[in-house]
Amino acid sequence: MWYDIWVMEKTFQIAIDGPVAAGKGTTAKMVAARLGYLYVDTGAMYRCLALYTKQNNIEFSDEQKIAKLLEESSPKVELSIPSETEKDGRLCTVKLNGEDVSWQIRTEEISSGVSVITQYSGVRDYITPLAREIGKTQNVVMEGREITTVVLPDADLKIYMDADPKERAMRRHRELMSRGEDVTYQAVYDQLVERDKRDSERTIAPLKKAKNAWILDTTGMTIDQVAQVIVAKVEEMK
Ligand code: C5P
Repeated sequence: MWYDIWVMEKTFQIAIDGPVAAGKGTTAKMVAARLGYLYVDTGAMYRCLALYTKQNNIEFSDEQKIAKLLEESSPKVELSIPSETEKDGRLCTVKLNGEDVSWQIRTEEISSGVSVITQYSGVRDYITPLAREIGKTQNVVMEGREITTVVLPDADLKIYMDADPKERAMRRHRELMSRGEDVTYQAVYDQLVERDKRDSERTIAPLKKAKNAWILDTTGMTIDQVAQVIVAKVEEMK
């Protein structure tokens, strides 16, 4: 009705894309906290579907069964800002059918499963409208893949976050070491270069720069500095 349209305030959407280890997640969370917006980790939403596949004893390679499962049971995927009791280092709280799965979706098994199932159109078609709907009802900082090109192409601010591959590999290496994983810098660098190539060449959801995106090169910047320039830009736009 006309008055529904009249009272509905337009949300402010910040969409972020970029290669692995460009600092999207941590920066997005910091920007969201400073602006009082919801941080939307679309990777976490896909991870929920990988966990749901596993809970239903379906192989990650079984595209048809996964599509049927989603169609028939419509699992509920929810994201929220961690409450006081949930603050344990997580970037956001993730619920699958009402259950807090914020850490269960971070295992190696789910990481490798999610990279397989995100290639399926049935899986992408399930998450894209959900993510879009969140962006319509709340002010958001959303990051992942094809956010600036497919999910929120009309976002108020579209950012392609990038950094020199050597620095991204250094960041990822540091992160893995702090988690106790024994891996050399060279191995991390080689994997990252390989993944960049695969990500930009794949047919489903390839890594692409939206035409009018702001290319933000974070080489030599701290996460805090990156968050500061984004917040300043938003304040300038308002
Ligand atoms: O960022 P994260 O590691 O949680 O993403 C999990 C997987 O989902 C990655 O393989 C990533 O490429 C994929 N993904 C995607 N589309 C998104 C977000 C993540 O294909 N919007």
